[in-house]
Amino acid sequence: MNCRIGVISGDGIGPEIVREARKVLDRVAERYGHSFVYKELLLGGASIDVHGVPLTEETIEQAKACDAVLMGSIGGDAKTSPWYQLEPSRRPEAGLLGIRKALNLFANLRPAYLYEELRAACPLREDISAAGFDMLIMRELTGGLYFGARKTEEVDGVLTAVDTLSYNEHEIRRIAKRAFDIAMKRRKKVCSVDKANVLDSSRLWRRIVEEVAEDYPEVELSHMYVDNCAMQLVLHPAQFDVILTENMFGDILSDEASMVTGSIGMLSSASLNDTKFGLYEPSHGSAPDIAGQDRANPIATILSAAMMLRYTFDLDREADAVEAAVRQVLKEGFRTGDILSEGCTYTTTTQMGDLIADRI
Ligand code: NAD
Repeated sequence: MNCRIGVISGDGIGPEIVREARKVLDRVAERYGHSFVYKELLLGGASIDVHGVPLTEETIEQAKACDAVLMGSIGGDAKTSPWYQLEPSRRPEAGLLGIRKALNLFANLRPAYLYEELRAACPLREDISAAGFDMLIMRELTGGLYFGARKTEEVDGVLTAVDTLSYNEHEIRRIAKRAFDIAMKRRKKVCSVDKANVLDSSRLWRRIVEEVAEDYPEVELSHMYVDNCAMQLVLHPAQFDVILTENMFGDILSDEASMVTGSIGMLSSASLNDTKFGLYEPSHGSAPDIAGQDRANPIATILSAAMMLRYTFDLDREADAVEAAVRQVLKEGFRTGDILSEGCTYTTTTQMGDLIADRI
């Protein structure tokens, strides 16, 4: 298969972790007979340094010409970096919001998986973590409360703020379809999370999700109120496969789910639109405190590359191979500093990439 992959190395540890993910992708290409052609794209601080702005039309057009984009992370230290002397719309993070919008990336996927070898880092009680968990949060990313009309005004002498939570059936249908498609590649369970006992937007959400479910008879659909879901994530996380939810609920639940894994350097993510295109990036930031020191954990980026193989290119076997290689390296006791524990072997960013690539 011939794949055009846009690469945003970005800032901080970005170039180091992306370099290792490319190493692993090159190994996949060699082993399975694919051709990956990379196109370097500028975003965030790296773009400000060259063009004075965090995102250019050229980057958007180049990204659109690719099948997928693999990203490291963007941004710097807000206290010391000159990028943060600029007005907010010209800072690195504005570039990321801009590219998500320009590429219409409405579906955000964040897996939360508990590796047996890293169970000690899980903050949950041992009898709960012993069951393990492997879930994926599918969050709607371009609608709902964060994008509705808002205002603050004085009403009868009282300061009053209004935010609007609105979803239409098309927005719900397209994200629900994405969730069911992905559930078909996993354990075939979707839990749709809403607040249908209170909100009209949630009642419509539930209705449309049920309609979409009719096209996926193999997938088991359940519904859960968001307050209950927040509890269940720490009480019985093993019950979840795909959690489908709207923007704000997903924002909160995906952070909760990722924190219960206990390992930020391990968490991948993907943002998809209604084609096969996706932007794949680790869930963590650019870690300026350890940039350039060969200390960053590249696994979240390598697993993001695996998601790209699975969801954009439908290369499930190759994605499985990358994920198995990561598990193998952990099983053999190799760890970067962030996940290091007694009895394990300290590994640099470069060594971790080599070890994973070697096991594919
Ligand atoms: P961060 O995730 O960069 O770092 C938090 C802590 O985790 C730091 O101690 C860091 O060293 C550590 N860490 C993060 N990733 C690691 C890895 N792969 N290996 C080892 N340790 C790792 O969060 P922050 O410090 O709040 O933000 C730093 C910058 O990143 C800011 O400019 C922020 O805006 C940006 N950011 C970017 C993205 C993105 O590109 N999508 C996301 C979040 C934050």
